[in-house]
Amino acid sequence: MSSSSGIQIPSRLPLLCTHDGVLLPGSTMRISVDTARNMQLVKSRLLKGTSLKSTIIGVIPNTRDPEHDSDELPALHSIGTAGLAVQVVGSNWPKPHYTLLITGLCRFRVTQLLKETPFLVAEVEQLDKLEQYTDGDQGDGELGELSQRFYQAAVQLVGMLDMSVPVVAKLRRLLDSLPKETLPDVLASMIRTSNKEKLQVLDAVDLEERFKKALPLLTRQIEGLKLLQKTRKLRPGDDKRVLAIRKGGVFPGRQFLVEDEGEDEDGDDMALLEKKVKAAAMPEAALHVCLKELRRLKKMPQSMPEYVLTRNYLEMMVELPWSKSTTDCLDIRAAQILLDNDHYAMEKLKRRVLEYLAVRQLKSSLKGPILCFVGPPGVGKTSVGRSIARTLGREFHRIALGGVCDQSDIRGHRRTYVGSMPGRVINGLKTVGVNNPVFLLDEVDKLGKSMQGDPAAALLEVLDPEQNHSFTDHYLNVPFDLSQVLFIATANTTATIPPALLDRMEVHQVPGYTQEEKVEIAHRHLIPHQLEQHGLTPQQLQIPQDTTQDIISKYTREAGVRSLERKIGAICRAVAVKVAEGRKISRAESPTEQHAEKTTESKEEDSGIAAPPEMPIVIDHIALKDILGPPIFEMEVSERLTLPGVAIGLAWTPMGGEIMFVEASRMEGEGQLTLTGQLGDVMKESAHLAISWLRSNAKTYHLTNGNDLLEGTDIHLHFPAGAVTKDGPSAGVTIVTCLASLLSGRLVRSDVGMTGEITLRGLVLPVGGIKDKVLAAHRANLKRIIIPKRNEKDLEEIPAHVRADLDFVFASTLDEVLNAAFDGGFPSAVNHPQVVSKL
Ligand code: ADP
Repeated sequence: MSSSSGIQIPSRLPLLCTHDGVLLPGSTMRISVDTARNMQLVKSRLLKGTSLKSTIIGVIPNTRDPEHDSDELPALHSIGTAGLAVQVVGSNWPKPHYTLLITGLCRFRVTQLLKETPFLVAEVEQLDKLEQYTDGDQGDGELGELSQRFYQAAVQLVGMLDMSVPVVAKLRRLLDSLPKETLPDVLASMIRTSNKEKLQVLDAVDLEERFKKALPLLTRQIEGLKLLQKTRKLRPGDDKRVLAIRKGGVFPGRQFLVEDEGEDEDGDDMALLEKKVKAAAMPEAALHVCLKELRRLKKMPQSMPEYVLTRNYLEMMVELPWSKSTTDCLDIRAAQILLDNDHYAMEKLKRRVLEYLAVRQLKSSLKGPILCFVGPPGVGKTSVGRSIARTLGREFHRIALGGVCDQSDIRGHRRTYVGSMPGRVINGLKTVGVNNPVFLLDEVDKLGKSMQGDPAAALLEVLDPEQNHSFTDHYLNVPFDLSQVLFIATANTTATIPPALLDRMEVHQVPGYTQEEKVEIAHRHLIPHQLEQHGLTPQQLQIPQDTTQDIISKYTREAGVRSLERKIGAICRAVAVKVAEGRKISRAESPTEQHAEKTTESKEEDSGIAAPPEMPIVIDHIALKDILGPPIFEMEVSERLTLPGVAIGLAWTPMGGEIMFVEASRMEGEGQLTLTGQLGDVMKESAHLAISWLRSNAKTYHLTNGNDLLEGTDIHLHFPAGAVTKDGPSAGVTIVTCLASLLSGRLVRSDVGMTGEITLRGLVLPVGGIKDKVLAAHRANLKRIIIPKRNEKDLEEIPAHVRADLDFVFASTLDEVLNAAFDGGFPSAVNHPQVVSKL
């Protein structure tokens, strides 16, 4: 090495004994140091030394295993390489050791060992007199010829390597610049040689001998390389085969064949995709994006994760109905018939839907409010939506929004996310395959909100006719025209619909059904539908009206008809089993016959003979009990009103109307009012108002003999069904009645239900949800309903037969309420003390 030509190594060198590898002059080697002597050497010479000289050490190869590097010194090799430690790295894992990077400088011979502990130090003699080569001319004689041959062999070797690799190019340049005599050492350390061979090169102190020893090694390497290249040429498909195997399904014997097919298939696939992209009739912007992605896809290797993502994206894009639509076939008269056929009752809603459709027929633009049906579950909101789609001849798709709290559910995920996908709107369009379906946004009142953005805001964009012609789903990232989609929303209550969303919609209340309506719906729609679903015919199963009424009153308590439908389904299942078994469950006209029937039946069962069932199987009360079990809801109203201090209120819930008991009791105490039953603030205030009004009017109603009503008394008010949160002002009149009953010791009439807000002055204010409340009272067999006078107009919505069954009392003051709630009235000393006006 020319750089080391001027270096004279010190005559005393610390010795590093290695057992793996041989350091040759002109090469660099990494040596691991872990024996005690070597570690000491590193610590005291390399780590503490400050001069360049202190970093020169002697490396003696081929000593024995360090495990046995005890005090006894192994026989040392007499020739070593002086090296420059260029890097020292220490580590404690797995055991303390150093790693040295050492560049060999020149050979030396150990002349005398000076010190054995803590590390070896020896007197050395430098063998390679580096200066002599630099200007010496070895062009003649055997040495010159040898060095020339060696040089050419080295050039040949490097020529066989890939010149595009930077290291190889550098090596090629190095061959020319290095003095020829250094070549045996440099190349012997580079090519594949064993330690023993390297040791022979090291030991060859004479230059000529060194060339002679190194040349065969070099030739061997060249031959090896030649052989390798020959075998490569024999199998030109090597690289391709790797590719083919990656695609999967390649068996060694037929790899070329399969691979070719695979490639063709791949090409076909791409062409097909391209064709599809072009045929999808997308708008300009979308087509542009698709073609760009397609170009990227073609260049991408299949193994790249992005390949699948891009492909999925393109497939989604081509499947979307960019310009596919159905033609509307709207005929108002046919629509009316269809709606009437599909749904019993709900006249008001059907009328409004027809109006909506008529406007659509006259003016073929859809810009208008979005219909929103609000009502308890199972009253047919979804089903009306489906009918609208049918009357228009459009596809129908339902998007359930209950519990959706992430805006990307509506608007999709950006494609950068793993597992990203489009939102529900775009997915729905893909499912129906046309761009003008009827989308039913189910349960908009149950949209959630979370850290992931507000889905209601995203929905606004979908519903707004001004914006939705260019709705941009995050996944597609190109606008899609939603203006042809007909949106209909459903909800149980408007209270929880985000106001901005509510503003875009035209709300239609769908109230619950009366008992009679339910019976009709059951016989016209539910029973035939369930029969069909269970593969039965009316000739096999009959459910008389009486039974239906029983199912409705004893097995269901709901505003809609969903439970009713389920119960009918249960009956159908039971009968289906009997029919399938060739048995009958009941055919009796009377219970006695039925029993007789049953005994014969069980006899038949005992004897194991299957008798064909007698058709039709008629479900009577007893068969009903057999199938559905004992009645779930018994009329308990009268039972619960046997003590003073109980009154029945009428409540409205998103599930429809309900009757609600209010209970009160008194005990000795300090005039405290306790309220239980999960009440909201407004309801608590009503209770306080009621107490205050009663206290101030206690004398009028003879509730006390002069003292304060609450003196020495605590009052506890409870609203049963404690698990359900209740709120609202409409329980005011019920609380007053309940307390009046408690304090007077008189029973409230057991067939009276009431609703109304109260004021401190004893006036009764109007409340909402009258229709649902009245229907609930009717369901519960109440006879007298007390409602605020100003709610009288709301009775118009109530079917005439229900109205006829009930006795309505319209009250404007609490005095009127109390008089109607107690048998024989609630006498007071002064008539209407609270409506004295100064005007
Ligand atoms: P909602 O959407 O209001 O919760 P659905 O539309 O799902 O209720 O109705 C539940 C079931 O009740 C459906 O099978 C529907 O056909 C039936 N149904 C409800 N109301 C009527 C009606 N007025 N006439 C006929 N069937 C009805």
